Amino acid sequence: MKIQIAKPNIDQDDIDGVIEVLKSGWLSLGPKYKQFEQDFAKYVGSKYALAVSNGTTALHLGVKSLNLKAGDEVITSPFSFVSSSNCLLYEGVKPVFSDIEETTFNIDPFLIEKSITKKTKAILPVHIFGQPAQTDEIMKIAKEYNLKVLEDACESLGATFKGKMAGTAGDIGTFAFYPNKQMTTGEGGMLVTDSEKIYDLCDSMRNQGRSKNGDWLIHERVGYNYRMDEMSASLGITQLKKINLMIEEKRRIVALYNEALKDIEGVEIPRVGPDRTHSWFVYVIRVKKGKRNKLMNELGKDGIQTKPYLPVIHLQPFMRKMFNFKVGDFPVSENVSRETLALPLYIGLEAKDVEYIVWKIEDALNG
Ligand SMILES: *Cc1c(COP(=O)(O)O)cnc(C)c1O
Repeated sequence: MKIQIAKPNIDQDDIDGVIEVLKSGWLSLGPKYKQFEQDFAKYVGSKYALAVSNGTTALHLGVKSLNLKAGDEVITSPFSFVSSSNCLLYEGVKPVFSDIEETTFNIDPFLIEKSITKKTKAILPVHIFGQPAQTDEIMKIAKEYNLKVLEDACESLGATFKGKMAGTAGDIGTFAFYPNKQMTTGEGGMLVTDSEKIYDLCDSMRNQGRSKNGDWLIHERVGYNYRMDEMSASLGITQLKKINLMIEEKRRIVALYNEALKDIEGVEIPRVGPDRTHSWFVYVIRVKKGKRNKLMNELGKDGIQTKPYLPVIHLQPFMRKMFNFKVGDFPVSENVSRETLALPLYIGLEAKDVEYIVWKIEDALNG
């Protein structure tokens, strides 16, 4: 591959920070994860932030700490990465899918009410690709029906809805720092909340069920090892320092793509809904007329890596087996999913690379 789809942005500060941790010999439960949590809480504007081993474990702790249990139902988007509903399955909670908006690919708030039953306990919106869902409408419904809200903001760090950071409107928000996300810690995740009770509970659960001031070998509850190590946390601190610059740089590259692609027959560029900012986890176009897979193959031959973001969750093999989902259950998500394609987007992608990619797209689609 000549042009890969994503790349982390690692500079000398990132490297120096990790080396400093290694030299200190304090590799876990040291000062770095606390510092990262403080910095992160301040950045997104939440009271508490809890660093964990990845985004999926953040979601799992979210489900546990909201007391969601076997037999409960949670309304969520079928157009997402699989872990936003897997975190429910871990606890026997049923993901109840509700279809998305054609424009932003986020859960359509005006369809949610139809899926509410006596068993519904929460809404789990996923802010997809770097763009927040209509958080105000979702919060309104949650209030009316007394539902919890667990926001999966793993793809949307730094994006805002009506000026508020994605992941900070609900009871809990989760973030992820896998190397293709807006910032990375290698593997890593974060849970944010304004509730001290939720924070304390999650703090214990991520650390084997230990209590705050108790003995190391006394466990108050069933816990997990979902801790973030100090090397990752150090990377988190230095990455977070430049998060706004990284998001701005991606916005600049996205503007180049938009300008070059907007008039190409058979391509739809991404749409950003009103009242929000986009933080560009990935740049996803729609390829019309059934030509998505062909385009992906052609671009691959030209050394341009792309990915069909995202296959719908309800049609994943294990989901079909568990719940008997079938094609046509969530038509908007399925139509979108058949046409979407993520193009290369990373800091360091140059104007001439964008030009080359767009030229190859035009060539493959329209000869
Ligand atoms: C990346 C991601 C996660 C968490 O991923 P991890 O690989 O576990 O860090 C969760 N939900 C969505 C929508 C994601 O894109």
